[in-house]
Amino acid sequence: MLWRRRHLYARSVHDILKPAIIRNCYPHKTASFPRPSSRIFTTTRIARDDCATTLIAPNGHSWSQPSGLFIRNEFVKSPSGETLESIDPATERPIISLHAAQSSDVDNAVNIAHETFENTSWRDVDPTVRRDLLLRLANLVSDHAHTLATIETWDNGKPFSTALHEDIPDVIATLRYYAGWADKLNGSSFNLGPAKMAYTTREPVGVCGLITPFNYPLCSAVWKLAPALAAGNTVVVKPSEHTSLSTLYLAHLTRLAGFPAGVISVLPGLGDRAGAALVSHPLVAKVAFTGSTSTAQSVMRFASGSLKRLTLETGGKSPLVVFEDADIEQAAKWAYAGVMSNAGQICTSTARMLVHERVHDHFVDKLVEYTKQNSVVGSPWHAETTQGPQTTRVQYERILSMIETGRNEGAKLAYQGPQHRSKSGSGFFIPPIIFTSIPDISLLAQEEIFGPIAVVCTPFTTDDEAVHRANNTRYGLGASIFTKDIARAHQVARRIKAGMVWINSSQDCDPRVPFGGVKMSGAGSELGEEGIKAYTVEKAIHINLGMRL
Ligand code: NAD
Repeated sequence: MLWRRRHLYARSVHDILKPAIIRNCYPHKTASFPRPSSRIFTTTRIARDDCATTLIAPNGHSWSQPSGLFIRNEFVKSPSGETLESIDPATERPIISLHAAQSSDVDNAVNIAHETFENTSWRDVDPTVRRDLLLRLANLVSDHAHTLATIETWDNGKPFSTALHEDIPDVIATLRYYAGWADKLNGSSFNLGPAKMAYTTREPVGVCGLITPFNYPLCSAVWKLAPALAAGNTVVVKPSEHTSLSTLYLAHLTRLAGFPAGVISVLPGLGDRAGAALVSHPLVAKVAFTGSTSTAQSVMRFASGSLKRLTLETGGKSPLVVFEDADIEQAAKWAYAGVMSNAGQICTSTARMLVHERVHDHFVDKLVEYTKQNSVVGSPWHAETTQGPQTTRVQYERILSMIETGRNEGAKLAYQGPQHRSKSGSGFFIPPIIFTSIPDISLLAQEEIFGPIAVVCTPFTTDDEAVHRANNTRYGLGASIFTKDIARAHQVARRIKAGMVWINSSQDCDPRVPFGGVKMSGAGSELGEEGIKAYTVEKAIHINLGMRL
């Protein structure tokens, strides 16, 4: 039996994937899967297509950055000649110019993805092959961690240590987790009496359009790509126009890992062109979107033309509720992490703080003290920096305007950190700010800020009031509760209308646990078992065991 498994495995690898590998990555290898190469792809190949540039980042790290559309395992130009600039948010200087996909490029990539899906060599491959490809990709991400973290820091503005020690490990863990699922996607069987039985199979959906935001470029891409590929789909990824570089580099790693041509395409481009074309393409069977609520509404409208399956991860205004029996020191530290991490650009940011009247002042003092002691805004390349710039100018200006509105609405300023500027005086830096005395109806308490701004609302007195006010928003993504009373913790968690509730912590997600929102924060979940099931169709098969007409 063991031998037979091995034999089958070898057959599927040898006969099905090897030709793709030979064509695209390893022309000199003819045996079974080669070990992943840790060398960076040959720049000549890319340079020939004018689709890569050797970059040297401010930390001195150098690599060959793909800048084309990744289609059929090649980086190519858009025939339109359209480009988009990637900007360093710490200096406002351009990093590189990328080829920008237009609707005709999307059409091309989707047709190739559809052809690849319909040609059963990918869809029907032994699932252990998909498992091994994902594991190999995880190893390549680990081998190239320094390059990927450098790219993410330069393009997005997050501190290098965060990119290296938080984002890249999350990417690796997610790839490994879903690699484990690839050969465990089973259906159910039904005993329907002596004359009939039925069973279900879990089948891939088809071509999946994956659209990602700017705040966690690589993590968002992999949260979608890993389950989609593990389930046997083909994918077309449209990264944020602000932060496409790491996803393009990941595309290069997928080629090194040995994914066959046509399985993965990556199309940098503008949302209202490339994104809209992807969402409305009739051959795209599923769209997984992460971004703002207003864009999700447009995605839903466009996708309705062909009734696509949708997973929508959108905005939030997540409450952090501190009861009078909580460990206030801990609550303040988690509250800091829940709003100031990633420059506040966290969809689940627990920035809307509701604190019991008896501990309100103590909590605010601790939050201010902890922020003062720990927050270092500055160059994302410095080891001590905890907060880099906001990723885009639009976002930066939006936050400034919300701060202004908050002040005009009577928000009390409990703390504002020092203003950082780069040497040239540029960069989208916003200091950490803690506002208090915020009424629930104000803009600061109702709208997503997506910046390092803590909003401490007016205090509450009863549990019912806390729950009512926590739910008093159009969003329903996350929530944090701080209490030592175990019964209260679970009771309140049940009553909070959100996709995720943290008890005595904030933001500590795990690839094994589903992640998603309710109300205007989204539909469906990513991660966990739900995350991969969303990329499958459950088909029912009915078997007549003797019923006769
Ligand atoms: P955004 O909505 O502006 O863009 C997201 C993506 O959608 C980008 O790739 C963009 O190019 C694309 N897009 C824009 N218009 C489109 C259209 N008409 N059709 C198809 N695609 C289109 O969001 P953003 O500013 O990049 O990201 C910030 C937002 O993302 C925040 O609201 C944040 O809360 C949310 N977010 C949510 C989660 C979550 O899991 N719930 C995670 C991260 C970010």
